[in-house]
Amino acid sequence: MGRLEEVERELKECKETLSNTQQQLELLLDNIPGGIMIYDAETGKIDYIGEGCLRLFHCTEEQFREHFYNSFNLFVMREDRAMVKEQIQNQSEFFDTVELTYRVRGLLDDVIWIYHKSRKFMSKDGRPQFFVVINDVTNEKLIHAQLQHNTEQLYIESERFRLLEEATDNVEYDYDVLLDTMESSEMDDDGNRIIIRNFLGGDYMKKMLHPKDYPLALDKFRKALKEPTKGNAEYRVISNDEDGGGFNWFRISYASFADKNGHVIRFVGSAKDISAEKAEQEELRAKVDIDSMTGLLNKEAIQRAIENYLQKSEYSDCHAIMMIDTDHFKAINDTFGHDYGDEVIKFTGRSIRDIFRESDFVGRMGGDEFMVFMKHTTPRITELRATQLNDALRHTFAENGISVQISCSIGIAYFARDGEDYSTLFRHADEALYQVKENGRDGYCVYREDI
Ligand code: GH3
Ligand code: MG
Repeated sequence: MGRLEEVERELKECKETLSNTQQQLELLLDNIPGGIMIYDAETGKIDYIGEGCLRLFHCTEEQFREHFYNSFNLFVMREDRAMVKEQIQNQSEFFDTVELTYRVRGLLDDVIWIYHKSRKFMSKDGRPQFFVVINDVTNEKLIHAQLQHNTEQLYIESERFRLLEEATDNVEYDYDVLLDTMESSEMDDDGNRIIIRNFLGGDYMKKMLHPKDYPLALDKFRKALKEPTKGNAEYRVISNDEDGGGFNWFRISYASFADKNGHVIRFVGSAKDISAEKAEQEELRAKVDIDSMTGLLNKEAIQRAIENYLQKSEYSDCHAIMMIDTDHFKAINDTFGHDYGDEVIKFTGRSIRDIFRESDFVGRMGGDEFMVFMKHTTPRITELRATQLNDALRHTFAENGISVQISCSIGIAYFARDGEDYSTLFRHADEALYQVKENGRDGYCVYREDI
Protein backbone atom coordinates (compact mmCIF):
# COMPACT_ATOMS: atom_id res chain seq x y z
CA MET A 1 0.00 0.00 0.00
CA GLY A 2 1.31 3.37 -1.00
CA ARG A 3 1.85 6.23 1.49
CA LEU A 4 -1.02 8.21 0.00
CA GLU A 5 -3.43 5.35 0.37
CA GLU A 6 -2.33 4.91 3.94
CA VAL A 7 -2.95 8.57 4.73
CA GLU A 8 -6.35 8.41 3.03
CA ARG A 9 -7.32 5.38 5.07
CA GLU A 10 -6.23 7.02 8.33
CA LEU A 11 -8.14 10.16 7.40
CA LYS A 12 -11.25 8.08 6.71
CA GLU A 13 -10.92 6.32 10.06
CA CYS A 14 -10.46 9.66 11.79
CA LYS A 15 -13.58 11.02 10.10
CA GLU A 16 -15.56 7.97 11.12
CA THR A 17 -14.39 8.24 14.73
CA LEU A 18 -15.21 11.94 14.72
CA SER A 19 -18.64 11.31 13.27
CA ASN A 20 -19.28 8.56 15.84
CA THR A 21 -18.19 10.85 18.67
CA GLN A 22 -20.39 13.65 17.36
CA GLN A 23 -23.32 11.27 17.08
CA GLN A 24 -22.71 10.05 20.61
CA LEU A 25 -22.44 13.63 21.87
CA GLU A 26 -25.69 14.59 20.16
CA LEU A 27 -27.38 11.52 21.58
CA LEU A 28 -26.08 12.40 25.02
CA LEU A 29 -27.16 16.01 24.75
CA ASP A 30 -30.61 14.99 23.59
CA ASN A 31 -31.09 12.64 26.47
CA ILE A 32 -29.94 14.66 29.46
CA PRO A 33 -32.84 15.95 31.53
CA GLY A 34 -33.78 19.46 30.52
CA GLY A 35 -32.46 21.20 27.43
CA ILE A 36 -29.43 22.90 26.01
CA MET A 37 -29.19 26.26 24.36
CA ILE A 38 -26.27 28.32 23.06
CA TYR A 39 -26.58 32.07 22.56
CA ASP A 40 -24.37 34.92 21.61
CA ALA A 41 -23.09 36.89 24.61
CA GLU A 42 -23.23 40.22 22.80
CA THR A 43 -26.38 40.07 20.64
CA GLY A 44 -28.32 37.55 22.76
CA LYS A 45 -29.19 35.72 19.53
CA ILE A 46 -29.88 32.02 20.06
CA ASP A 47 -27.47 29.95 17.96
CA TYR A 48 -28.34 26.47 19.04
CA ILE A 49 -31.48 24.93 20.51
CA GLY A 50 -31.27 21.32 21.73
CA GLU A 51 -34.02 18.71 21.39
CA GLY A 52 -34.53 18.85 25.18
CA CYS A 53 -35.52 22.53 25.01
CA LEU A 54 -38.12 21.79 22.37
CA ARG A 55 -39.48 18.90 24.43
CA LEU A 56 -39.68 21.19 27.40
CA PHE A 57 -41.78 23.72 25.50
CA HIS A 58 -43.66 21.13 23.43
CA CYS A 59 -42.84 22.85 20.15
CA THR A 60 -40.73 22.70 17.05
CA GLU A 61 -37.50 24.62 16.62
CA GLU A 62 -39.25 27.01 14.26
CA GLN A 63 -42.03 27.71 16.73
CA PHE A 64 -39.46 28.18 19.48
CA ARG A 65 -37.45 30.73 17.53
CA GLU A 66 -40.61 32.55 16.46
CA HIS A 67 -42.15 32.65 19.93
CA PHE A 68 -39.02 34.04 21.59
CA TYR A 69 -37.90 36.16 18.61
CA ASN A 70 -34.78 33.98 18.62
CA SER A 71 -33.47 36.04 21.54
CA PHE A 72 -32.37 34.83 24.94
CA ASN A 73 -33.35 38.18 26.47
CA LEU A 74 -36.90 37.80 25.23
CA PHE A 75 -36.93 34.17 26.34
CA VAL A 76 -36.95 35.32 29.99
CA MET A 77 -40.31 36.67 31.20
CA ARG A 78 -40.44 40.45 31.39
CA GLU A 79 -40.74 40.55 35.21
CA ASP A 80 -37.50 38.59 35.71
CA ARG A 81 -35.42 40.09 32.88
CA ALA A 82 -33.60 42.75 34.90
CA MET A 83 -32.62 40.23 37.58
CA VAL A 84 -31.37 37.69 34.99
CA LYS A 85 -29.44 40.32 33.08
CA GLU A 86 -27.71 41.55 36.20
CA GLN A 87 -26.74 38.07 37.33
CA ILE A 88 -25.39 37.10 33.92
CA GLN A 89 -23.47 40.34 33.51
CA ASN A 90 -21.65 39.46 36.67
CA GLN A 91 -20.51 36.34 34.88
CA SER A 92 -17.72 38.20 33.14
CA GLU A 93 -15.07 35.50 33.44
CA PHE A 94 -15.03 32.63 31.03
CA PHE A 95 -15.94 29.23 32.50
CA ASP A 96 -17.65 30.77 35.52
CA THR A 97 -20.93 29.01 36.18
CA VAL A 98 -24.13 30.92 36.88
CA GLU A 99 -27.19 29.31 38.42
CA LEU A 100 -30.53 31.08 38.23
CA THR A 101 -34.23 30.52 38.56
CA TYR A 102 -36.63 32.60 36.49
CA ARG A 103 -39.93 32.42 34.71
CA VAL A 104 -40.59 31.91 31.02
CA ARG A 105 -43.91 32.40 29.29
CA GLY A 106 -44.63 29.20 27.37
CA LEU A 107 -46.27 28.90 23.99
CA LEU A 108 -49.66 28.35 25.59
CA ASP A 109 -49.21 31.53 27.64
CA ASP A 110 -48.46 29.38 30.68
CA VAL A 111 -45.80 30.34 33.21
CA ILE A 112 -42.90 27.92 33.39
CA TRP A 113 -40.28 28.14 36.12
CA ILE A 114 -36.82 27.49 34.69
CA TYR A 115 -33.69 26.43 36.54
CA HIS A 116 -30.80 27.78 34.46
CA LYS A 117 -27.12 26.89 34.58
CA SER A 118 -24.82 28.66 32.15
CA ARG A 119 -21.18 28.98 31.30
CA LYS A 120 -19.39 31.50 29.08
CA PHE A 121 -17.09 30.17 26.38
CA MET A 122 -15.36 31.27 23.18
CA SER A 123 -16.77 30.04 19.86
CA LYS A 124 -14.64 28.70 17.01
CA ASP A 125 -14.81 32.12 15.28
CA GLY A 126 -13.71 33.88 18.45
CA ARG A 127 -17.11 35.20 19.67
CA PRO A 128 -18.10 34.93 23.36
CA GLN A 129 -21.10 32.67 23.82
CA PHE A 130 -23.15 31.19 26.62
CA PHE A 131 -23.75 27.50 26.96
CA VAL A 132 -27.00 27.07 28.89
CA VAL A 133 -28.67 24.04 30.42
CA ILE A 134 -32.29 24.62 31.45
CA ASN A 135 -34.75 22.53 33.45
CA ASP A 136 -38.46 22.88 34.15
CA VAL A 137 -38.86 23.31 37.92
CA THR A 138 -42.46 24.58 37.91
CA ASN A 139 -43.77 21.71 40.07
CA GLU A 140 -41.00 22.10 42.63
CA LYS A 141 -41.64 25.84 42.73
CA LEU A 142 -45.34 25.32 43.27
CA ILE A 143 -44.70 22.83 46.07
CA HIS A 144 -42.19 25.21 47.60
CA ALA A 145 -44.63 28.10 47.36
CA GLN A 146 -47.37 25.97 48.90
CA LEU A 147 -45.04 24.92 51.69
CA GLN A 148 -44.05 28.48 52.33
CA HIS A 149 -47.69 29.49 52.30
CA ASN A 150 -48.49 26.73 54.79
CA THR A 151 -45.63 27.71 57.04
CA GLU A 152 -46.76 31.31 56.96
CA GLN A 153 -50.32 30.22 57.55
CA LEU A 154 -49.22 28.13 60.51
CA TYR A 155 -47.29 31.03 61.91
CA ILE A 156 -50.27 33.33 61.47
CA GLU A 157 -52.56 30.76 63.09
CA SER A 158 -50.29 30.27 66.07
CA GLU A 159 -49.87 34.02 66.39
CA ARG A 160 -53.63 34.48 66.18
CA PHE A 161 -54.12 31.87 68.91
CA ARG A 162 -51.52 33.55 71.06
CA LEU A 163 -53.19 36.93 70.71
CA LEU A 164 -56.60 35.42 71.31
CA GLU A 165 -55.31 33.69 74.39
CA GLU A 166 -53.80 36.88 75.69
CA ALA A 167 -56.99 38.80 74.99
CA THR A 168 -59.33 36.28 76.54
CA ASP A 169 -57.20 34.79 79.31
CA ASN A 170 -58.23 31.40 77.97
CA VAL A 171 -55.96 28.47 78.53
CA GLU A 172 -55.60 26.37 75.39
CA TYR A 173 -54.65 22.75 75.69
CA ASP A 174 -53.77 19.97 73.32
CA TYR A 175 -53.70 16.29 74.25
CA ASP A 176 -51.76 13.80 72.12
CA VAL A 177 -53.39 10.42 72.58
CA LEU A 178 -50.45 8.29 71.44
CA LEU A 179 -47.90 10.14 73.55
CA ASP A 180 -50.31 10.62 76.47
CA THR A 181 -49.07 14.21 76.81
CA MET A 182 -51.15 17.26 77.60
CA GLU A 183 -49.68 20.52 76.37
CA SER A 184 -51.08 23.71 77.81
CA SER A 185 -50.68 27.28 76.61
CA GLU A 186 -49.81 28.28 80.16
CA MET A 187 -46.16 29.07 80.75
CA ASP A 188 -43.96 27.79 83.53
CA ASP A 189 -41.53 30.05 85.41
CA ASP A 190 -38.94 29.69 82.63
CA GLY A 191 -41.39 30.85 79.97
CA ASN A 192 -41.90 27.38 78.46
CA ARG A 193 -45.26 25.88 77.69
CA ILE A 194 -46.38 23.48 80.40
CA ILE A 195 -46.36 19.89 79.17
CA ILE A 196 -47.77 17.12 81.31
CA ARG A 197 -46.43 13.73 80.30
CA ASN A 198 -48.17 10.52 81.31
CA PHE A 199 -51.38 12.55 81.63
CA LEU A 200 -53.99 9.81 81.66
CA GLY A 201 -51.62 7.17 83.00
CA GLY A 202 -50.60 9.42 85.90
CA ASP A 203 -54.27 10.20 86.69
CA TYR A 204 -53.61 13.93 86.42
CA MET A 205 -57.29 14.78 86.15
CA LYS A 206 -57.84 13.42 89.64
CA LYS A 207 -55.09 15.69 90.95
CA MET A 208 -56.46 18.75 89.16
CA LEU A 209 -60.23 18.52 89.51
CA HIS A 210 -62.64 18.84 92.41
CA PRO A 211 -63.56 15.34 93.67
CA LYS A 212 -67.22 15.99 92.80
CA ASP A 213 -66.41 16.91 89.18
CA TYR A 214 -63.69 14.33 88.55
CA PRO A 215 -65.82 11.20 87.78
CA LEU A 216 -67.98 13.05 85.22
CA ALA A 217 -64.94 14.74 83.65
CA LEU A 218 -63.08 11.45 83.32
CA ASP A 219 -66.14 9.82 81.78
CA LYS A 220 -66.49 12.62 79.19
CA PHE A 221 -62.77 12.55 78.42
CA ARG A 222 -62.81 8.78 77.84
CA LYS A 223 -65.85 9.06 75.56
CA ALA A 224 -64.11 11.78 73.53
CA LEU A 225 -61.09 9.50 73.15
CA LYS A 226 -63.30 6.71 71.76
CA GLU A 227 -64.81 8.76 68.94
CA PRO A 228 -64.58 12.35 67.65
CA THR A 229 -66.67 14.48 69.97
CA LYS A 230 -67.32 18.17 70.63
CA GLY A 231 -68.63 19.55 73.87
CA ASN A 232 -68.67 21.94 76.82
CA ALA A 233 -68.42 21.36 80.52
CA GLU A 234 -67.93 23.31 83.75
CA TYR A 235 -65.49 22.01 86.32
CA ARG A 236 -63.75 23.20 89.46
CA VAL A 237 -60.00 23.14 88.91
CA ILE A 238 -57.51 23.33 91.75
CA SER A 239 -56.06 26.82 91.98
CA ASN A 240 -52.35 27.59 91.69
CA ASP A 241 -52.50 30.13 94.52
CA GLU A 242 -49.75 30.06 97.08
CA ASP A 243 -52.11 29.19 99.93
CA GLY A 244 -53.49 26.31 97.82
CA GLY A 245 -56.49 24.15 98.51
CA GLY A 246 -58.95 26.37 96.65
CA PHE A 247 -60.77 25.68 93.40
CA ASN A 248 -61.69 27.92 90.50
CA TRP A 249 -64.60 27.30 88.17
CA PHE A 250 -63.61 26.76 84.54
CA ARG A 251 -65.76 26.42 81.45
CA ILE A 252 -64.08 23.87 79.17
CA SER A 253 -64.78 23.65 75.43
CA TYR A 254 -63.28 20.65 73.72
CA ALA A 255 -63.14 18.63 70.52
CA SER A 256 -61.44 15.36 69.67
CA PHE A 257 -60.16 14.38 66.22
CA ALA A 258 -59.60 11.01 64.56
CA ASP A 259 -57.10 9.90 61.94
CA LYS A 260 -58.29 8.39 58.64
CA ASN A 261 -58.78 5.03 60.33
CA GLY A 262 -61.19 6.56 62.82
CA HIS A 263 -58.82 6.38 65.80
CA VAL A 264 -58.91 9.46 68.00
CA ILE A 265 -55.43 10.97 68.02
CA ARG A 266 -55.90 14.50 69.39
CA PHE A 267 -58.04 16.22 71.98
CA VAL A 268 -57.92 20.00 71.94
CA GLY A 269 -59.79 22.71 73.72
CA SER A 270 -59.79 25.83 75.77
CA ALA A 271 -60.58 26.58 79.37
CA LYS A 272 -61.95 29.88 80.64
CA ASP A 273 -61.93 30.91 84.28
CA ILE A 274 -65.58 31.62 85.13
CA SER A 275 -65.20 31.97 88.90
CA ALA A 276 -66.35 35.60 88.84
CA GLU A 277 -69.32 34.69 86.65
CA LYS A 278 -70.26 31.87 89.02
CA ALA A 279 -70.02 34.12 92.07
CA GLU A 280 -72.29 36.65 90.35
CA GLN A 281 -74.79 33.91 89.48
CA GLU A 282 -74.72 32.75 93.07
CA GLU A 283 -75.36 36.26 94.31
CA LEU A 284 -78.20 36.74 91.86
CA ARG A 285 -79.69 33.44 92.80
CA ALA A 286 -79.48 34.35 96.47
CA LYS A 287 -81.34 37.57 95.66
CA VAL A 288 -84.02 35.66 93.79
CA ASP A 289 -84.39 33.28 96.75
CA ILE A 290 -85.17 36.00 99.23
CA ASP A 291 -88.57 37.44 100.14
CA SER A 292 -87.96 41.15 99.77
CA MET A 293 -90.31 42.24 102.55
CA THR A 294 -88.96 40.07 105.39
CA GLY A 295 -85.51 38.98 104.15
CA LEU A 296 -86.56 35.37 104.78
CA LEU A 297 -86.48 32.63 102.12
CA ASN A 298 -89.35 32.83 99.67
CA LYS A 299 -91.78 30.00 98.97
CA GLU A 300 -89.77 28.41 96.14
CA ALA A 301 -86.43 28.72 97.91
CA ILE A 302 -87.57 27.10 101.15
CA GLN A 303 -89.19 24.27 99.19
CA ARG A 304 -85.90 23.68 97.31
CA ALA A 305 -83.86 23.87 100.51
CA ILE A 306 -86.14 21.36 102.27
CA GLU A 307 -86.21 18.98 99.29
CA ASN A 308 -82.40 19.00 99.11
CA TYR A 309 -82.16 18.39 102.81
CA LEU A 310 -84.65 15.54 102.79
CA GLN A 311 -82.69 13.83 100.03
CA LYS A 312 -79.68 13.61 102.30
CA SER A 313 -81.72 12.48 105.33
CA GLU A 314 -82.09 9.04 106.87
CA TYR A 315 -85.49 7.64 107.87
CA SER A 316 -84.37 7.64 111.46
CA ASP A 317 -83.79 11.43 111.39
CA CYS A 318 -86.47 13.62 112.94
CA HIS A 319 -87.20 16.98 111.27
CA ALA A 320 -90.28 19.16 111.73
CA ILE A 321 -92.20 21.37 109.35
CA MET A 322 -94.25 24.17 110.87
CA MET A 323 -96.90 26.15 109.04
CA ILE A 324 -97.62 29.44 110.78
CA ASP A 325 -100.51 31.75 109.92
CA THR A 326 -101.28 35.01 111.66
CA ASP A 327 -104.73 35.16 113.21
CA HIS A 328 -107.10 38.03 112.28
CA PHE A 329 -104.44 39.71 110.21
CA LYS A 330 -107.09 41.28 107.97
CA ALA A 331 -108.20 43.33 110.99
CA ILE A 332 -104.76 45.00 111.06
CA ASN A 333 -105.04 46.00 107.43
CA ASP A 334 -108.63 47.10 107.86
CA THR A 335 -107.94 49.15 111.00
CA PHE A 336 -104.51 50.65 110.41
CA GLY A 337 -104.06 50.39 106.68
CA HIS A 338 -102.03 48.21 104.33
CA ASP A 339 -98.66 49.86 105.05
CA TYR A 340 -99.09 49.25 108.73
CA GLY A 341 -99.99 45.65 107.86
CA ASP A 342 -96.64 45.37 106.01
CA GLU A 343 -94.82 46.46 109.14
CA VAL A 344 -96.67 43.81 111.14
CA ILE A 345 -95.62 41.16 108.59
CA LYS A 346 -91.97 42.26 108.99
CA PHE A 347 -92.34 42.16 112.76
CA THR A 348 -93.79 38.65 112.55
CA GLY A 349 -90.92 37.49 110.28
CA ARG A 350 -88.27 38.83 112.69
CA SER A 351 -90.02 37.29 115.69
CA ILE A 352 -90.09 33.86 114.03
CA ARG A 353 -86.46 34.06 112.88
CA ASP A 354 -85.29 34.97 116.40
CA ILE A 355 -86.78 31.86 117.94
CA PHE A 356 -85.05 29.27 115.71
CA ARG A 357 -81.49 28.14 115.16
CA GLU A 358 -79.50 29.82 112.41
CA SER A 359 -79.33 26.52 110.52
CA ASP A 360 -83.13 26.00 110.48
CA PHE A 361 -84.95 27.19 107.35
CA VAL A 362 -87.42 30.02 107.84
CA GLY A 363 -89.52 31.26 104.93
CA ARG A 364 -92.49 33.39 104.05
CA MET A 365 -95.04 31.52 101.96
CA GLY A 366 -96.96 34.66 101.06
CA GLY A 367 -99.45 36.98 102.84
CA ASP A 368 -99.39 36.37 106.58
CA GLU A 369 -98.24 32.76 106.24
CA PHE A 370 -94.77 31.45 107.21
CA MET A 371 -92.96 28.13 107.26
CA VAL A 372 -90.18 26.80 109.46
CA PHE A 373 -88.14 23.64 108.90
CA MET A 374 -86.46 22.43 112.07
CA LYS A 375 -83.54 20.09 111.42
CA HIS A 376 -82.81 17.19 113.78
CA THR A 377 -85.36 18.06 116.37
CA THR A 378 -87.47 16.18 118.89
CA PRO A 379 -91.23 16.51 119.54
CA ARG A 380 -90.43 18.04 122.92
CA ILE A 381 -88.21 20.82 121.52
CA THR A 382 -90.55 21.39 118.59
CA GLU A 383 -93.55 21.90 120.81
CA LEU A 384 -91.51 24.11 123.12
CA ARG A 385 -90.65 26.32 120.11
CA ALA A 386 -94.29 26.32 119.02
CA THR A 387 -95.33 27.60 122.42
CA GLN A 388 -92.60 30.28 122.28
CA LEU A 389 -93.93 31.30 118.87
CA ASN A 390 -97.50 31.53 120.11
CA ASP A 391 -96.32 33.71 123.00
CA ALA A 392 -94.14 35.96 120.81
CA LEU A 393 -96.81 36.55 118.21
CA ARG A 394 -99.63 37.16 120.65
CA HIS A 395 -99.42 40.88 120.40
CA THR A 396 -101.65 43.90 120.66
CA PHE A 397 -101.15 46.82 118.29
CA ALA A 398 -102.67 50.04 119.48
CA GLU A 399 -102.90 53.31 117.60
CA ASN A 400 -104.94 56.40 118.59
CA GLY A 401 -106.91 54.49 121.19
CA ILE A 402 -107.82 51.70 118.83
CA SER A 403 -106.22 48.32 119.36
CA VAL A 404 -106.13 45.07 117.45
CA GLN A 405 -104.79 41.84 118.85
CA ILE A 406 -103.11 39.25 116.71
CA SER A 407 -101.87 35.78 117.46
CA CYS A 408 -100.77 32.80 115.40
CA SER A 409 -101.89 29.30 114.55
CA ILE A 410 -99.28 26.60 113.96
CA GLY A 411 -99.55 23.23 112.23
CA ILE A 412 -96.73 20.72 112.71
CA ALA A 413 -95.75 17.60 110.72
CA TYR A 414 -92.71 15.40 111.29
CA PHE A 415 -90.32 13.76 108.85
CA ALA A 416 -90.39 10.82 108.34
CA ARG A 417 -93.42 9.83 110.43
CA ASP A 418 -95.97 12.18 108.75
CA GLY A 419 -94.43 12.22 105.32
CA GLU A 420 -91.21 11.48 103.48
CA ASP A 421 -91.42 14.23 100.90
CA TYR A 422 -91.98 17.95 100.92
CA SER A 423 -95.49 18.02 99.48
CA THR A 424 -96.85 15.40 101.91
CA LEU A 425 -95.29 17.14 104.88
CA PHE A 426 -96.60 20.50 103.65
CA ARG A 427 -100.13 19.14 103.22
CA HIS A 428 -100.18 17.51 106.64
CA ALA A 429 -98.77 20.56 108.42
CA ASP A 430 -101.43 22.64 106.65
CA GLU A 431 -104.17 20.23 107.78
CA ALA A 432 -102.91 20.55 111.35
CA LEU A 433 -102.91 24.36 111.00
CA TYR A 434 -106.50 24.27 109.78
CA GLN A 435 -107.34 22.26 112.87
CA VAL A 436 -105.97 25.05 115.11
CA LYS A 437 -108.02 27.65 113.22
CA GLU A 438 -111.09 25.42 113.71
CA ASN A 439 -110.39 25.16 117.42
CA GLY A 440 -110.29 28.92 118.01
CA ARG A 441 -106.73 29.87 116.89
CA ASP A 442 -103.70 30.97 118.98
CA GLY A 443 -102.18 27.53 119.44
CA TYR A 444 -100.44 24.66 117.69
CA CYS A 445 -101.44 21.21 116.52
CA VAL A 446 -99.30 18.22 115.60
CA TYR A 447 -100.60 16.25 112.60
CA ARG A 448 -102.30 12.96 113.29
CA GLU A 449 -104.12 10.78 110.83
CA ASP A 450 -107.39 11.18 112.67
CA ILE A 451 -107.49 14.96 112.83
P1 GH3 B 1 -107.20 34.00 109.83
O1 GH3 B 1 -107.25 34.30 111.27
O2 GH3 B 1 -108.21 32.99 109.44
O3 GH3 B 1 -105.85 33.66 109.37
O4 GH3 B 1 -107.67 35.31 109.09
P2 GH3 B 1 -106.76 36.49 108.54
O5 GH3 B 1 -107.48 37.75 108.81
O6 GH3 B 1 -105.36 36.41 109.01
O7 GH3 B 1 -106.83 36.23 107.02
P3 GH3 B 1 -105.97 35.23 106.11
O8 GH3 B 1 -104.87 34.64 106.88
O9 GH3 B 1 -106.94 34.30 105.46
O10 GH3 B 1 -105.44 36.19 105.04
C1 GH3 B 1 -104.28 37.00 105.23
C2 GH3 B 1 -104.53 38.38 104.72
O11 GH3 B 1 -103.33 39.13 104.68
C3 GH3 B 1 -105.06 38.44 103.32
C4 GH3 B 1 -104.57 39.75 102.78
O12 GH3 B 1 -105.53 40.76 102.84
C5 GH3 B 1 -103.45 40.13 103.70
N1 GH3 B 1 -102.19 40.25 103.04
C6 GH3 B 1 -101.61 39.34 102.22
N2 GH3 B 1 -100.38 39.75 101.80
C7 GH3 B 1 -100.17 40.98 102.37
C8 GH3 B 1 -99.11 41.93 102.34
O13 GH3 B 1 -98.10 41.75 101.69
N3 GH3 B 1 -99.24 43.08 103.08
C9 GH3 B 1 -100.34 43.30 103.80
N4 GH3 B 1 -100.40 44.44 104.52
N5 GH3 B 1 -101.36 42.44 103.85
C10 GH3 B 1 -101.30 41.29 103.15
MG1 MG C 1 -104.12 34.75 108.68
